Amino acid sequence: MKFEYTDYHIHSKWSHDIKEFGPSFENYLDIAEKNEINICFLDHYELYYIENDETYPFYDGKIEQYLDEIDKVKASYDFVLSGLEVDYYTDYKIKLREFMDDYGKDFDFIAGTIHETDIGLPVTNRDKLVELLGKKGVKQVVNNFFELSEEMIRSQIFQNICHLDTIFRYINIRDLVPTFDTDVSDERVLNLGRLCIKNNTSIEYNLSGLKFPIKRPFPSKSVITQLKREGAKIFVGSDSHSINYFRTSISKVKKAYKFLKKIDKKRSSRNT
Ligand SMILES: [Zn+2]
Ligand SMILES: [Zn+2]
Repeated sequence: MKFEYTDYHIHSKWSHDIKEFGPSFENYLDIAEKNEINICFLDHYELYYIENDETYPFYDGKIEQYLDEIDKVKASYDFVLSGLEVDYYTDYKIKLREFMDDYGKDFDFIAGTIHETDIGLPVTNRDKLVELLGKKGVKQVVNNFFELSEEMIRSQIFQNICHLDTIFRYINIRDLVPTFDTDVSDERVLNLGRLCIKNNTSIEYNLSGLKFPIKRPFPSKSVITQLKREGAKIFVGSDSHSINYFRTSISKVKKAYKFLKKIDKKRSSRNT
């Protein structure tokens, strides 16, 4: 790649959670080039909606059009990577494996992710999460998230995993306060990370939590530090859904890489 650092998590208008006139691939190029950062587009790819919702951007085989468009951009700009943020669902395990067999090689970077433990109620949408909490209670919602995450990592369908503990975007002491018997410990997130290390799966340091009341990345700085010390492979993502947010994230992404690099040094200096 052209530049030293890469923001691995950029959404374009191909993502369903971006407004109709949202950013195209091209809209990001100037800013990325001026600020000397590589960008990897990681648009949402959710098999359930691709099969069932005709308004979903990738409905009905539009992935071919996506590849045509992104490959054209890549041919002219050597700081762009093609990728997808692919949702994991238990019932789609076989289809996900088939998808990776069919398309894994056509993209530079595919990352597995969990937004929904119950279809239609993403834990990353506050209103939908409140609806889910009304049905299941917070302890079970958090447990389900961690159980499904573990299942996704163990499946080894993905070599990269996004935002390990995004369940805490809204469930935390500053927002939707968990009950005392809900396990929200760092240890729980560390154990997911350790499973990734064991499987040689890369872990995202996702900076998007900084814009929510929790005001910390996913996972937290202390958890990512510990995982790095234990040998984790880490990629950094801003999770940008707009040009302005991307612009303000660039310095944070670079800072995060520099911070992670220093942890490496500590490890190697201790070992010598
Ligand atoms: Zn996500
Ligand atoms: Zn994302």
